[in-house]
This record gives sequence, structure tokens and C-alpha cells, in this order.
Amino acid sequence: MASNPSAFLKENFIFHRIILVLLLSCTPDSTNLSYDSSPSQESSPLSVPSKPLLRTLPLDGHFNFEDIQYAAKDFGGRYHNLPFAVLHPKSVSDISSTIKYVFKLGSASGLTVAARGHGHSLQGQSQAPNGVVIHMESLRLPKMRVHNGGSPYVDVSGGELWINILHETLKYGLAPKSWTDYLHLTVGGTLSNAGIGGQAFRHGPQIDNIYELEVITGKGEVITCSGKQNADLFHAVLGGLGQFGIITRAKISLGPAPERVKWIRMLYHDFSMFSRDQEHLISRKITFDYIEGFVNINKTGILHKWRSSFTPSDPLQASLFKSEGKVLYCLEVALYFNPHESNVISKRVNELLSELGYIRSTLVMSEVSLVEFLDRVHLSEMKLRAKGLWDVPHPWLNLLVPKRKIGDFAKEVFGNILTDNSNGPILIYPLNKSKWNNKTFLVTPDEDIFYMVAFLPSAMPSASGTESLERILAQNERIKSFCSTMLPEVKQYLSHYSTQEEWQSHFGPQWEVFVQRKLEYDPLAILAPGQRIFPRTSAKRTVARVQVT
Ligand code: FAD
Repeated sequence: MASNPSAFLKENFIFHRIILVLLLSCTPDSTNLSYDSSPSQESSPLSVPSKPLLRTLPLDGHFNFEDIQYAAKDFGGRYHNLPFAVLHPKSVSDISSTIKYVFKLGSASGLTVAARGHGHSLQGQSQAPNGVVIHMESLRLPKMRVHNGGSPYVDVSGGELWINILHETLKYGLAPKSWTDYLHLTVGGTLSNAGIGGQAFRHGPQIDNIYELEVITGKGEVITCSGKQNADLFHAVLGGLGQFGIITRAKISLGPAPERVKWIRMLYHDFSMFSRDQEHLISRKITFDYIEGFVNINKTGILHKWRSSFTPSDPLQASLFKSEGKVLYCLEVALYFNPHESNVISKRVNELLSELGYIRSTLVMSEVSLVEFLDRVHLSEMKLRAKGLWDVPHPWLNLLVPKRKIGDFAKEVFGNILTDNSNGPILIYPLNKSKWNNKTFLVTPDEDIFYMVAFLPSAMPSASGTESLERILAQNERIKSFCSTMLPEVKQYLSHYSTQEEWQSHFGPQWEVFVQRKLEYDPLAILAPGQRIFPRTSAKRTVARVQVT
């Protein structure tokens, strides 16, 4: 290093010029608004000299530049984009300083930032190719705190797992009202999407059960927002696919948490009867607490397989029931209760069941604790992990289908496109839009009742035939192509598109506001690049395009 001040300044100036030239020479082509949809490793937009500069940021936590391969993976198992660094934040200011630093680098650096929850995205949504991934689970502040009272809530960090929230809130006899089927997901991850499950027909998705958020924008500002304070940002972030800010803190609404659950399944041959019953149940004032359903195409011994967890109400008839060679629809419901209400609840179950048209011999029931019920998918996870079948590609496809079209959809997809579902479950259940907040960026069909249809296959890496990744992807394409030509009202959930035109069509009339909010809160398009909506630095140009058209 130079020993006198002017020589030092001169050296420093030259050093920064070199960095700037390197950064500019690595700037991606910002005129390219479409993306290569292939799930491959992407090329580096970032120059090497930024590495020591990131390292010098004063932090409570730390950056990791090695052993970061895990941040290039996700549950989908098909997209692998290695980041440049992983930030393990210990404070909100760690995240804010990092984003401020990237923002100050300006549009030329190409450096992006992605929050990573538990990495359960399907197509690289929480990855940042050669950018910075923020490992949100490292942020342990605020310490989870339950606020009991008139409108109870829990105050949690954005990186908190829902399973931990369940355990903590139960200590107070409380729990969040709306759940996903799997709880080893983070608050920030599900709130960026929606968080839809079997309670959403009544309470709305998880994004509709939030009182307040703390968010760090794409400029590094820390902003508290709610339905009343900075409401634009609040509604943009909920269901906003990580585009407007990083959720560092959430206040989640709670309700009473009964201890026990009656968990019931029954089968139908007839789709119209099945969907009629599901719609009847979600419209009833006194009804089950959880309503979902799934499709079984040509499965052998369904009732027999359920015997480890459920008891048939008519064991003899159940043992004679044959499921192979058929398309069967399973209605799955649950009712929560406390032990002293057992008799009243049994009566209510019987009343509700008496209104339904299921195949009588197929009714099975179980009684479990609330935790066992809500955390049920974790049990399957453990079994699959033990067999090495959890970390395999998951080419999932989630669709929201309007009620008007669900019959046409079922006929073509379950009766024609799919010949079996041996590689994973297919969920299907109706939701009630009138109970949902329409101010968020979650896109749903334009009809009051619509169905969540989730194809959840696992592809065995060395498999051929029905379980191979190629075959499942081809099936998904057939389903999507049928929808885009015959049922354009169908919307994707946990969407993934290759071009900005497709995103524009996905958002429809909301697109203009979506772009405006992007310009306001993340003008350099630094955040959540894995969603492939805005190429880095293009937010301004996209707004200009929107204003011209
Ligand atoms: P990640 O996958 O890590 O992140 C998801 C997106 O959110 C990324 O774009 C990321 O950058 C962004 N993000 C993450 N954290 C933050 C933050 N703090 N602030 C801002 N942006 C952030 N979904 C449902 O709705 N209903 C279900 O029933 C359901 N069941 C599931 C079952 C399984 C087994 C799995 C694997 C997923 C399921 N999901 C379900 C999908 C789930 O909502 C998504 O996987 C979601 O991505 C949450 O995962 P995550 O917390 O690991 O977030």
C-alpha cells in the first residue's frame, strides 16, 4: 500500500476504475426480456472484485463464499444456479446493509439478491445465479412471541418455520388459523406465494391472516407495513413472489387451538357428486374445519393402504371394495374438538356425513392430536427420506380452476390425459373467494368458487416409463396446453414462466400495478431473480413499456 495520502487516493481511484470496468463488462444484456426456460446453470453476471468488497461489510452475521452448493438446490430438484455468496444474517440491519450495498453498485453490477426460506421452491425461485442468497433461517430475531388478548397474534421472524410456530403457540392454547399441508416451510416463503390449504375456504390463505409485516425493500429501506400503514407495500409483498421486499418479521393472527381432530376420508365414483359435496361443505356455515380431496387413478387396494392410520366404519364391506381400474375421488375432511366435546362432535360428524353421497363402504375415520394432523406430511417425509426418495426431482404443477370449468377439466385430465397417478398424489378441493382479500397480488380465477388442483409427482432419477421425469414433464405440458387452449381462465399457482409476456398474461389487469410497485420498491430488479419476472435493471424499462401501451 502507498505510504502518502495522495498516492493512496490515486491507487484507490485506479482500483475502483478497474472494478467499474470489470462490472460493466460483465453486465447482462438488459434488452433481453425473455429467459431461457431450460433448468441449467446460468452464466456469471458478476465480476470477481466484488467478493472482497462484500466481505468488508460490517455485519452481525457473516457471508459464506464456500460450501454454498446447497443454495443452488431446491425441492423441485431441476434448477441449479450457484450463488456468488450466502449471507447468514443475525440482524435486520445485516440484510438492509447488504441490499443497500448492492443497490449502490447501481444497474451495471448485475448482482441480485434472493431470500431463501427452506428452499422448497420447485423451479429455482429462491436461487440467485451468481448473486447473494440470504439464508433466512439464520435470522432469529425477533424472538417468537405470542400476544394473548382480544385479537391474539404471534410475532415471528420471516425465516421461522411454521412447525415451530405451531409448537410455540400451542403452549398458549392458540394456533394460526390457515395452514399449508406441510409445515416445514418458512413464513416468508409461504407469504410470498399465498399458503393455501384445507382451512383456506373459511379463513383465506395464510396471506390473509397477517396483521403486520416488517419488510426490507430493494433499496435496503426497512419499512413496517399493515393494512393501514404503508398498505401498498403490505399488499404488494403478500403473494408478491418476493419481488418488492424481504419479509423479516410478521405478526400472524391466531385463534383457539382445540386438542383433538376427527380425520375422515371417503370415496366417490362420480366426479359431479364429489365436487357437489365439496362445494356444499364449503358453503355451509357449520361445517368441517378442514376440507380437501384427492384423485386416485387406477390404484390398487386404496382402503387397505389406509388401514395403518384409519379405521373403516364397515370393515367387512371395506375389505370387499376394489379400487383398481377406476378413477376414484377421495373427500378428506377434519373436525377439531376438545376431549369434553367428544359426544357433540360425533353427532355433528354424523349429521354432516348424512348429507353426502359417497360410497358408503369406503368411509374411514381416525382420531389424532392437532399436531399429528397438521404435521401429517412430515411423517411421509421421514419415510421417504429413509428410502432415499425425498431428494428426487419434483415436477409439480399447481392450478386454480374456476368452478364453471372443473367438470370439463376433470373429464379431460383424469379421464384422458392421465392413465394413473402412481408417481404422486393429485389434490383437488374448492375454495371460496368471497372470504379472501382481493388486494394482494395472488392471482386467482375470476369466479367466486375455484378449485386448487395440485399434481404432486416425484420422479425417480433412474426411472423410465411412468415414473421418469421426461414423462411427467410431458404430461404436465399436455395439461397446461389443454388449459391454455380450452380453459384459458385457469391460473397457475406457484407459477413459473419463461417470458415476461407470460407473466403479463398471468397477472392480467394487475400487471400494470405490479410493475409500478416494482419500480417503487425494487427499481433495479435486485430481488428474487429466480422468479424470472424482471431481468436485472429492467424494471424502469418495463414501466416505460407499460406506459406507452
Ligand atoms: P423458498 O422456496 O425458499 O422461497 C420461495 C420464494 O419466496 C422465493 O422466491 C424466495 O426468494 C421468496 N422468499 C423466501 N423467504 C422470503 C422472505 N422472508 N421474504 C421475501 N421473500 C422470500 N404451498 C401451499 O400454498 N400449500 C400447501 O399445502 C403446500 N404444501 C407443500 C408441501 C410440500 C412438501 C412442499 C415442498 C411445498 C408445499 N407448498 C405448499 C409450497 C410452498 O408454499 C412453497 O414451496 C414455498 O416456496 C415455501 O417454501 P420455503 O419457505 O422453503 O420458501
